[in-house]
Amino acid sequence: MVLVYAEATNGQFKKMAHEVVVYGKKTADVLGTECHALVLGDASGAEDLGRFGASKVHQLKSPNLEKFDAAVYTVAVAEAAKKLGATVIVLSHNSTGKSICGRLAARLEAGSVPGANAIPMMKDGFFTVRKPVFSGKAFADVQLLTDVKIISVAGNSIPVEELGQGGTTVEALDITLPEPRTKVVKHQVATGRVPLPEAELVVSGGRGLKGPENWGVVEDLAEALGATTACSRPVADSDWRPHHEHVGQTGVAIRPNLYIAAGISGAIQHLAGVNNSKTIVVINKDADAPFFKAADYGVVGDLFEVLPRLTEAVKKYKG
Ligand code: FAD
Repeated sequence: MVLVYAEATNGQFKKMAHEVVVYGKKTADVLGTECHALVLGDASGAEDLGRFGASKVHQLKSPNLEKFDAAVYTVAVAEAAKKLGATVIVLSHNSTGKSICGRLAARLEAGSVPGANAIPMMKDGFFTVRKPVFSGKAFADVQLLTDVKIISVAGNSIPVEELGQGGTTVEALDITLPEPRTKVVKHQVATGRVPLPEAELVVSGGRGLKGPENWGVVEDLAEALGATTACSRPVADSDWRPHHEHVGQTGVAIRPNLYIAAGISGAIQHLAGVNNSKTIVVINKDADAPFFKAADYGVVGDLFEVLPRLTEAVKKYKG
């Protein structure tokens, strides 16, 4: 059985949770088995995970799950997997997934593939998972040779599809959890927008913006599109924008449907975090800017003229 940890944020399932359930269902189909979802803590809409392919939903509630603690969550997922007899565990490659994937692998003596971006396949008789390597410049096919296999799935890797019926029964799980070893004392929501790793539309600015006081042109386009804002590293390093907006090799890696980059030269370290975007639009006044080589659409022009015109066009289109 494939067990998918479907994470709820503040009690709600977001796109990434549905994405991993779809991934789990498709993995289960490859293996000819069932896909079950695991929900930790209180969450509304757990029964709806059936719509994305879970044939059963298991829910574990405990006061020790109220705040995220990697050690406690690792025990919860690992013990649930053991109790339910899962042979494959699937989770999101978000901050939670990244913090527990390795711990789970150690606890269950399982092979793991963090950051997979394609449905596993049976190749030469081996369960094989594809993941990007070298900042997305190449991919590796990894054979998982252990009895239990763990995969964390990169955001926006596969489309969310309705693969089943809602109204799945939610069964309570009984597992004794350890006390948390850490305590979150402050949790500040950085932005009201969709977080960058999940964003489908991103408008990003670089040093070509000249200073933080000019960010209105980026914000306005993002607002009109319903997009999330991002920036290049020097922009965050200069405190023009918050660090959580920095994309690239040393920042957040994103894979939106649309990435609009204004005043960004397209250095290799920047491209490393954005080159998995489905469509890249580059606005730069220098026709020789390297970013144009990676662009699907390019506008050679002054961003202070182009961005407001784009915003106007989007508003007009949306009515
Ligand atoms: P610049 O390179 O200064 O480019 C500004 C661009 O704006 C130019 O192309 C210019 O033509 C254009 N421009 C100027 N005015 C206008 C205008 N009015 N209209 C239109 N265009 C205009 N960078 C990242 O972004 N992410 C990373 O994760 C990252 N990691 C790094 C890791 C390492 C180890 C190192 C060494 C570097 C890293 N960098 C990273 C930095 C990277 O090498 C580049 O220096 C950085 O991406 C450049 O940022 P930029 O494009 O905003 O600025």
